[in-house]
Amino acid sequence: MRKLILALGLLAMTIPTVANAHGGGCRKSSPPGQCCHMDNSAGVVHCH
Ligand SMILES: [Zn+2]
Repeated sequence: MRKLILALGLLAMTIPTVANAHGGGCRKSSPPGQCCHMDNSAGVVHCH
């Protein structure tokens, strides 16, 4: 059980880091509640 809590804690710490890793702002065509933008390293638009 302790391992599960540790894993969730690590996940919670990792998610904001990934979300902030490539900022750059949202496209105007983004659907409500989502932020679509170009991932410069991959060359594709994605939403999250
Ligand atoms: Zn992104």
